[in-house]
Amino acid sequence: MKPITGRDPVSGRTGVIQAAQTLVDSGQFASDLAEIVSRPTESQNPQRCNEMQAYLAEMLIPRLTTSGFVCTIHSNPLGHPFLVARRIEDAILPTVLGYGHGDVTRGQEGEWGQDRQPFELGQEGDRLYGRGTADNKGQHLINLQALECVLAARGRLGFNAIWLFEMSEETGSPGLVEFCEQNKDLLAADVLIASDGPRMSPEVPLVFLGARGAVNFSLSVELRDGAHHSGNWGGLLADPAVILAHALATITDRRGQVQVPEWHPTSLTPDIRAVIEKLPLPVGPQIDADWGEENLTPQERVYGWNSFAVLAMESGVPSAPVNAIAGKARATCQLRFVTGTDADDILPALRRHLDAKGFQQVVLEQEESGFFPATRSAPDNPWVARVVDSLERTTGVAPHLAPNLGGSLPNHVFMDILGLPTIWIPHSYGGCNQHAPDEHMLIPVAKQALGLMAGLYWDLGEHTPD
Ligand SMILES: [Zn+2]
Repeated sequence: MKPITGRDPVSGRTGVIQAAQTLVDSGQFASDLAEIVSRPTESQNPQRCNEMQAYLAEMLIPRLTTSGFVCTIHSNPLGHPFLVARRIEDAILPTVLGYGHGDVTRGQEGEWGQDRQPFELGQEGDRLYGRGTADNKGQHLINLQALECVLAARGRLGFNAIWLFEMSEETGSPGLVEFCEQNKDLLAADVLIASDGPRMSPEVPLVFLGARGAVNFSLSVELRDGAHHSGNWGGLLADPAVILAHALATITDRRGQVQVPEWHPTSLTPDIRAVIEKLPLPVGPQIDADWGEENLTPQERVYGWNSFAVLAMESGVPSAPVNAIAGKARATCQLRFVTGTDADDILPALRRHLDAKGFQQVVLEQEESGFFPATRSAPDNPWVARVVDSLERTTGVAPHLAPNLGGSLPNHVFMDILGLPTIWIPHSYGGCNQHAPDEHMLIPVAKQALGLMAGLYWDLGEHTPD
């Protein structure tokens, strides 16, 4: 690695970080955020259809064009349009793909505290309230402003930048897979560096490299039409709820340890264990130390292993029970899984397991929505070290490094279809109320993140591989 500029890298880097953080102190960050939050880009609300293209055309394209990006809006036959913005400085330089989504979940007007309005930015203490402040408008604004600071200071980035924005993320990213499959050349890059989701603790930057996958399915036992009097028929008619409960009880033991052999991932290797060990646990209810895999640490259970959950179950009418043996019972279930699990064999393996235990009458069906593949970029990828070192240089503290989040996100599009190492640097935190009333961004986190991203973009342009 050798420097490609004659500039003093230390003062230049410090200067660009300060310039980015000044955007918070000067109010520029909040006023830009207020403008983009004011667009009610609710993708779950069909009446907001016209807002989607407008957000790309009026909120993003002007600022990207000013920064020298060539912007194209692409229609999406399966959902709202995409924006691709490209700034190619030199084909010999590495290319960094950024991603963001401009759509938000429903505003939930009337449910916010203190009469807050979802599409009006409100500042209270160290919080900026508004729909999209955390998910994802505030996060991509931070990255765009940081890029602009580097451009202003250096006159160029020192790398090629491509941005992909979608407007359908909150409805499951319809068309994203197809768009990326059809536009691999347009999106060709060396790495994805993007921001979404929460940090594990508000003060400590997080780098995560993938996500757990998820598959939702139902298990049902349907024995007969209608219910029958439990006095006249009790002892004569099989109870579907009892059969279903016994079937469920074969999937995990009584402390939730998975009993389907194929559901044990092969990926919890010593190097992954070493990375996971340093991660904090989610903040919230006290965890149950005697739940989950007995031989794993709590961190390994949530970031390195598969977990089964019953999301809902029903037999009869729970809110109004009657003296009858129900005709059917049903449970909606989920497996969260990490890489090293054969995703195509998850449900077939469960079928074999249930059959072997004598539960042929339990019907297994995959739910139409809710499937995410598991992803994890290799922690020893050179891009990971570059990013982690840069963030540490800016804050003086090592960021948390997670092979994957416990939750799910459409990272497989970038990893499996575009073939990129994927590096996510979230600028939100667990208490941000995303998808709920009172969504907000923490001002100190925004300020730190602007500095982190400015320092990172500076560093990415500072050296070119020998
Ligand atoms: Zn979201």
